[in-house]
Amino acid sequence: MEYTKKGYFLEKHIKFPSKKRLREKPVAIIECTQNIPCNPCVEACPFGAITIEGNINSSPEVNFETCTGCGFCLGICPGLAIFLMDLSKGYGLVTIPYELFPPDKGEPVDLLDRSGQKVGEGTIEQIRNLKKYDRTILVTLKMDEKLIKIVRGFRRKK
Ligand code: SF4
Ligand code: SF4
Repeated sequence: MEYTKKGYFLEKHIKFPSKKRLREKPVAIIECTQNIPCNPCVEACPFGAITIEGNINSSPEVNFETCTGCGFCLGICPGLAIFLMDLSKGYGLVTIPYELFPPDKGEPVDLLDRSGQKVGEGTIEQIRNLKKYDRTILVTLKMDEKLIKIVRGFRRKK
C-alpha cells in the first residue's frame, strides 16, 4: 500500500467498505504500512476474514463481508494498524487500539486525523479492556458520520 513520506496513509490510499456495509455493523479497516514478515492479524481472526496474498511481507486485506467487527485483530496487531468503523447506530463510531491510560466513558475529546491534527470533537462511547484483546484497550469514539474515514486518534481535554 502507498503512504506519505511521513508514514501515514491518505484517505485515497485506503480500501473502505460500502456505505451499505458500514450501516450493518462494525467492520475492520487495516492501515498497515509495515512491509515486514508479520501476520498475527491473520491468525487472530476467528472468521478467516484477513488474508495476506503470496509473500508474508505483503499487506493484509480484510474481506468486509466476512468480518463481524469483533475487534480481536485490533488487540493483537503490534503496529496498532487496525481500526473499526461503524455507522449502524445512526452516527459515526471509530474504534482504535489504545495503549495509554484510558479515558472515561462519555468524556468529551478532540478528534485527530492520521497526522495528529484536530479535525473535530467527539465523545468516548465505549472502553473495552479484555484479556481476549491481549490487554490492548479498545476505545470507541462517537462522532459525526462524515468523520469516520478521517479520525484515527483522540486527545483528552483534561
Ligand atoms: S474485526 Fe474480527 S472478524 Fe473482523 S477482521 Fe478483525 S478479527 Fe476478523
Ligand atoms: S498484525 Fe498489524 S502490523 Fe502485522 S501485518 Fe497485520 S495489520 Fe500489519
